[in-house]
Amino acid sequence: MEIDSLRKLYVEELKDLYSAEKQILQALPKMVKKASNPQLKAGFEEHLRQTEEQVKRLERIFEALGKSGRGKKCKGMEGLLEEGKEVMQEDMDEETRDAALIAAAQRVEHYEIAGYGTVRTYAQLLGEDAAVRLLQQTLDEEGATDKKLTALAEAINVEAMEEIEA
Ligand code: FE
Ligand code: FE
Repeated sequence: MEIDSLRKLYVEELKDLYSAEKQILQALPKMVKKASNPQLKAGFEEHLRQTEEQVKRLERIFEALGKSGRGKKCKGMEGLLEEGKEVMQEDMDEETRDAALIAAAQRVEHYEIAGYGTVRTYAQLLGEDAAVRLLQQTLDEEGATDKKLTALAEAINVEAMEEIEA
């Protein structure tokens, strides 16, 4: 691949992530409200603060490239968040709603992990060392968030089962 083509693709993929993160910033406060489990609520709050920093990291990268992050809508994230909303409108007990929130959130994290892994690798190939560090930092946060969600899902599912047995 020519270096110019890779650079263009890199910028396009960064814009996709920038749009995705901004959509997530809108969605997370609603997820905080809908979560019942205190740890899940706190986890979403923490990830909201992380996401604000992730947006700033992308802005630093665009600035260094002399490019704007605007002008692209991430349709993948739009679809994931839309699906999450659909499932949440149904009548659910607290544990089930928490489980549905986690399912939606993990889809979001996996989308981000795929996107950040890709741009981190492009940045490596392009010799954009400062960007590699910033993108890796975000990638690590998304991975840690995904793992926390898995642990919470396991705990919440056990709680729900215990309620049935009691
Ligand atoms: Fe993110
Ligand atoms: Fe995330």
